[in-house]
Amino acid sequence: GSPECPVLPVLGLDVRVPLVTGGETTYAALDYAASAPVLQRVWDEVAAYAPYYGSVHRGAGYLSQHSTALFEESRATVARFLGCREDDRVLFTRSTTDSLNLLASAVPEGTRVYVFESEHHAALLPWRGLHTTWLDAPRSPEQAVAALEERLHAEPAGPKLVCVTGASNVTGEIWPVRQLADAAHRHGALIVLDAAQLAPHHPVDIGELDVDWVAFSGHKLYAPFGAGVLAGRSDWLDAAEPYLAGGGASRSVVREADGGVEVEWQGGAARHEAGSPNVIGAYAVAAACRALDEAGFGRLVERERTLTARLLTALAEVPEVEVLSLFGAGSPGEAAESRVGVVSFVVEGWNSSHFAAALSAEYGIGVRDGLFCAHPLVRTLRGAGSEQRGGCGAGGTGGGGDLNAVRVSFGAGTPDEHVERFVRAVRELVRNGARWNYRTVDGRCVP
Ligand code: PMP
Repeated sequence: GSPECPVLPVLGLDVRVPLVTGGETTYAALDYAASAPVLQRVWDEVAAYAPYYGSVHRGAGYLSQHSTALFEESRATVARFLGCREDDRVLFTRSTTDSLNLLASAVPEGTRVYVFESEHHAALLPWRGLHTTWLDAPRSPEQAVAALEERLHAEPAGPKLVCVTGASNVTGEIWPVRQLADAAHRHGALIVLDAAQLAPHHPVDIGELDVDWVAFSGHKLYAPFGAGVLAGRSDWLDAAEPYLAGGGASRSVVREADGGVEVEWQGGAARHEAGSPNVIGAYAVAAACRALDEAGFGRLVERERTLTARLLTALAEVPEVEVLSLFGAGSPGEAAESRVGVVSFVVEGWNSSHFAAALSAEYGIGVRDGLFCAHPLVRTLRGAGSEQRGGCGAGGTGGGGDLNAVRVSFGAGTPDEHVERFVRAVRELVRNGARWNYRTVDGRCVP
């Protein structure tokens, strides 16, 4: 890569890291949970294709045909990556948020929806307008399964949908997806998996997990360009009105003599992909899936566990640091077994935004601070009542005053040095305080 964009070779998955902060210090991108840096291979494959794109499913011309073929091949690649069943649909969307809103638009009338309050807002909020039940954040994986089971058992017959996360974007803790799916199915409910945080770190096999739908985002899976995926059962999707009304989703539009309009909608994926799809985004997602498949998740998971254990062990040695956890797994080593590389914490005596600003300014480390678009979860973890509100405002989707936390997250391409630098930075900041005053992203002066 260029000096401005060095490539970090780890496990054969070269990751482009965006900036050099000055001198010899490379920028330590430790905010993978928000957006992961792109893989060099994805970048190269997109660069080879991108100058030659055309609009898909539209034209007889070469570029259109070429793009249509790549778009449909990308769909097949994603289907393989997720282990899709024969009649599953793979839809390209903008993001996980978009995927879950798409599914929400296809939920049959009268369906009851169940979500844990510990979800990201993208999984909590799309169901507004439907009969939705929020379950308390569970304190262990077993409790999650038991709570869902108990709740569903008590509910009246009728269509039901459960929405669960694969791994929390706040605590990084992995959820017992297969057991939750079994519990849902035992009670006649369908289940959708928000795999935004799980898919970049672990294999997600829709058949093995036995979930009905999976949603994830390309930009967290080492692909840029604003594309996401919703994959799964076709029945609800095929029966629903198109998510977006427009060209591509419509097979025939006729203005009738009485002034009315008769629209015949497409079936298949096209039904929910109206407008000109983000073909480069879809291609990038598929390139990332191929790269991850070839690298093999086994080694990625192993390396990430080692880094997570190192991080949790070091944080446990700083008494001022409190790591946020729902499930509270024992030792740092044990905790690392059941997490992806996402760790949130608070530091006694520090405002989290100030801490994040100091990490950036003094150590070239990019982390996230705030409530991470999971306000009910962070409130529960911080033992706060609902009267304490956090805004999704400037300065990192946070603005929640004292409730804010700091989140550090990593993945493929994270070198040991970044984690070591982070650990040293935490120790030094806690011991010595910040050296200067900084402005945070939203212009506040700290500390
Ligand atoms: N779910 C989880 C668990 C997430 O972490 C995120 C992103 N932070 C989302 C959903 C939403 O993803 P996107 O912003 O790409 O739509």
